[in-house]
Amino acid sequence: MKKPQFNNKKGGQNKNHSGFRQANFESRPKKKEDFAKVNGGVFVYSKPLTVAELSKAINVPIPAIIKYMFMNGKAVTINQLLDDEMIGTICLEYGYDFKKEEIVDAEHFEDLKIEDDPASLVERAPVVSVMGHVDHGKTSIIDAIRHSDLCSKEAGGISQAIGAYQKDHKGKKITIIDTPGHEAFTAMRARGADATDITVLVVAADDGVMPQTIEAINHAKAANCEIIVAINKMDKPGADPDRVKNELMAHDVIAEDYGGDVMTVEVSAKTGKGIDDLLDAILVKAEMMELKANPNRFAIGTVLEAKLDKGEGPKATLLVQNGTIAASDYVVVGEIYGKIRRMTNEYNAVLKSAGPSTPVAVTGLSAVPMAGDRFMAFPTEKEAKEIAERRALEKQKQERSASAAMSLSDLNNLVNAGKIQDVNIIIKADTEGSAEAMKANIEKQSNDQVKIKVLAASAGAINDSDLLLAQASKAIIYGFNIRPDARITAKANEAGVEIRTHQIIYEVLEEIEALVKGMYKAEQVEQVTGQAEIRHIYKISKIGTIGGSYVTSGTIKAGSKIRLLRAGVVVYTGELAGLKRFKDDAKEVREGYECGISIKNYNDIKEGDIVEGYEMVDKE
Ligand code: GDP
Repeated sequence: MKKPQFNNKKGGQNKNHSGFRQANFESRPKKKEDFAKVNGGVFVYSKPLTVAELSKAINVPIPAIIKYMFMNGKAVTINQLLDDEMIGTICLEYGYDFKKEEIVDAEHFEDLKIEDDPASLVERAPVVSVMGHVDHGKTSIIDAIRHSDLCSKEAGGISQAIGAYQKDHKGKKITIIDTPGHEAFTAMRARGADATDITVLVVAADDGVMPQTIEAINHAKAANCEIIVAINKMDKPGADPDRVKNELMAHDVIAEDYGGDVMTVEVSAKTGKGIDDLLDAILVKAEMMELKANPNRFAIGTVLEAKLDKGEGPKATLLVQNGTIAASDYVVVGEIYGKIRRMTNEYNAVLKSAGPSTPVAVTGLSAVPMAGDRFMAFPTEKEAKEIAERRALEKQKQERSASAAMSLSDLNNLVNAGKIQDVNIIIKADTEGSAEAMKANIEKQSNDQVKIKVLAASAGAINDSDLLLAQASKAIIYGFNIRPDARITAKANEAGVEIRTHQIIYEVLEEIEALVKGMYKAEQVEQVTGQAEIRHIYKISKIGTIGGSYVTSGTIKAGSKIRLLRAGVVVYTGELAGLKRFKDDAKEVREGYECGISIKNYNDIKEGDIVEGYEMVDKE
């Protein structure tokens, strides 16, 4: 019997490196044949197979399989997909053990579940982030922990802010993410990154549990992070740690001396008292958690922050979560890749390699990635390039297929189905001030499930670049006191971009609140009937000002609701008083025709103004 040819080559030693890492198979794109192979008498497969595929893989003729299945009461055809049970019985019949393997290829490294051989695992440093209510001393604690290092090294001016640092404590390392607060933490999580092992929850002893303390607890719990409570400001006269512990109980954070399992440490970031105890507690917790990783594999981890450095180009801080990154590696992040040009630590010291839980700043990427993106290191440019290109292609495909309208109703459905976490919004307003106010208020509508992200907020009319941004990021454009002109409206319709316009901020907030709660219902919507441009002004005593106009799009209807636009900004909202064709009243005037327009209670029209007629209609 001819042995079937299977591709079950193991990754060889990687020659590019000093030999301390094996070129492991997870870092390699799977070949088609890898989805079903016989390995030491065991048939290993990872996806449903047809009769033909199974036949080839286990080298049993197709008719034999079909006959066997028929004898067992199942009529199957050559191209029929077999379920796991069928595959299992056929394998056993022909003397193979079988195993289904969940394989995620390297292209989708975000989803990679790495199962290292326990023998290859070594202890790694805990990754800690600091959260808590504003002014309770998060930044002070981060600085206090760093303090000794600051004195000795930062004084020389060589330290660089890379978003995280490692602290040596009693011969062990602790990795501290130095962007405090749960917004940054959750922003990372929203991008699929779970970088933190332990959350230090900072509560001021003189202030107790406050709203953001509760939020931080919720965020930490949602991320399955262990919590250690740092009761800060113990040097202050009003310090009352028992009150803090009592209040925390109400939120299911139960201190050890209250019968729970949450360590609490009394500290003062100001005097430095208790900071050592806090570090001790972190190490104790880390030991209980048995945090481990395999340093002998190519690195995989998360981008902690990234920016465009004037001199060095794209620069990113990578937190290595498993494996070891080498200065000679190629790194893929998102759809970009690059060869590491320079790899440094928080003291700007050049590193040759960095193991699990180490934050490193790297340059050499082709573009600036986003915080929270996952990265993976590859030994060769060929692999990195191939994977990055395939990821780019896939993203393009997704974008193309998803370029259809992302309307408020679509978003609402997705929110309801729990399918999206981020709702993207672009704000355009009549003034910079109202754009900023809108942004601040809109972002506050986010909740644990749905995050409202304002991608841009500025003053001015909606333009092509706004549409592009909205289309690319499936954003809704909110116009406040402005209206899109007919060309932009048409283009937005074509691109499937929804433009919502309001003149009362409360209405915007209500709409977004409903969306976040998944309860948005478009009952009545505005429908623009047409626009007319005012070309001449006639002042007629007793009647008022008449605009000699030309209907540029759609239809203007007598008595219609209108908005008067000047340079894209709404200057008046009201109703038509009169609509005339020559001397006669007209019921409606269509595109391409001239007419005389007067507005109820408004005479300040100017040449070049646009009159936009609209009506309220039920949204289907
Ligand atoms: P954050 O908003 O949580 O990052 O808080 P900060 O670290 O900025 O601290 C807020 C204020 O509290 C600052 O004025 C600090 O100097 C002060 N502060 C922080 N920790 C302590 C402390 O342990 N004792 C005292 N007395 N003040 C502190």
